[in-house]
Amino acid sequence: MDGTHLNNKIGIVGGGITGLISAYFLSLEGYKVDLYEKKKLLSETSSKTTKLIHGGIRYLENLQFHEVKNGINDRKWWLENFPDETKLQEIIILSKKKLSPEIFKFFFGIKVYETFAGRSNIKTGRLYKQDDLLSLGIKNNISAGISFYDGLMQESVGQEIIKRCKSNGVNFYENNEIKSIRSEGHIEEKQYKKIIIAAGPWVSSFLKQNKIDTNKTIDYIKGSHLIINRKIKKGLMFRDQKKHRYIFALPYQGNLLLGTTEQRVRSPEDNHVLDSEVNYLLESINIYIDRPINKDEIIKSYSGVRPLIKSKAQDFHSSSRDFYIQKDHNLLSLFGGKWTTAPSIARNIVRIVNNE
Ligand SMILES: Cc1cc2nc3c(=O)[nH]c(=O)nc-3n(C[C@H](O)[C@H](O)[C@H](O)COP(=O)(O)OP(=O)(O)OC[C@H]3O[C@@H](n4cnc5c(N)ncnc54)[C@H](O)[C@@H]3O)c2cc1C
Repeated sequence: MDGTHLNNKIGIVGGGITGLISAYFLSLEGYKVDLYEKKKLLSETSSKTTKLIHGGIRYLENLQFHEVKNGINDRKWWLENFPDETKLQEIIILSKKKLSPEIFKFFFGIKVYETFAGRSNIKTGRLYKQDDLLSLGIKNNISAGISFYDGLMQESVGQEIIKRCKSNGVNFYENNEIKSIRSEGHIEEKQYKKIIIAAGPWVSSFLKQNKIDTNKTIDYIKGSHLIINRKIKKGLMFRDQKKHRYIFALPYQGNLLLGTTEQRVRSPEDNHVLDSEVNYLLESINIYIDRPINKDEIIKSYSGVRPLIKSKAQDFHSSSRDFYIQKDHNLLSLFGGKWTTAPSIARNIVRIVNNE
């Protein structure tokens, strides 16, 4: 022991956003937190996102009201607590037809989205006519748009969270892969009041390696993004070339962030951007903008694997982004969630740790 009472010591495996926000909330409660990360903090899934801090307007299509509400509550938390590292982003949903069922569907969807936010609604969206869209560089066969607001994180948000954790006394052990844990409360040979597995898409394999049973499985759904040397004034959301799903084009750090794809893969390591994904993303956006983007304009691409909880449905496009906390003695293992809802997960962790 190092002088800190065992009752006060928490160990976390995984330095993505879920592990970090959990460490931050626990440190605010006075716990002494050790966090172990096998690579660099925030270098895996948490750095591969669309950068949205959101309830997920498109999840309303699948009637995932609980998740959307959770996300909207957490969006408020991020915008209030990280005002310099997050911002409001207007996003226009584009439609080829002015009076299409799609526009009506989104009109009502946005109203529900804004109603869920209640008094915390950040700003109200508006309708865009063809002339407005033309001035934004949208093709003249796109007749209408309807906008809503969400949060967008800036590059600095990760460093700010790490800084706040450090000033609260959280100990980080980077480049430190944990091989063995015991559910009584051991990480390798060190003993803790509680240990938390925040290993993102690695949670199932990590538990298996440590012979801990679970009835949850992670569905490895890869998503790729492109950063393009283009400036856009507003965020855009539009159907892909096959009209299957929606893609975002967002103004990000002076460039355009385009994503994402969705592809089931075998493991979290299978996170490479394929040529077919680059073509898919560019072909999809080029349906909507008057000056087509070509491959030379791509500055960077990245790909990550979502830690989604596997559902019975085969169609993973509508998979839930909800989270689950598994308890085994003094071990709490985290499944699912998204960047935005990390504070919800952390609040649940604090409640469990405080009550036991
Ligand atoms: C393409 C894509 C787009 C997304 N877009 C959004 C979005 O716009 N908004 C949003 O809210 N969410 C988004 N998400 C979801 C979000 O990225 C994830 O839910 C979130 O980042 C998961 O964080 P995490 O901490 O659970 O996992 P991770 O960030 O993967 O962190 C887990 C960490 O555990 C470490 N680890 C694993 N095993 C060990 C071990 N044995 N020892 C030590 N360390 C270990 C890993 O190295 C890793 O750093 C997106 C995800 C993807 C893939």
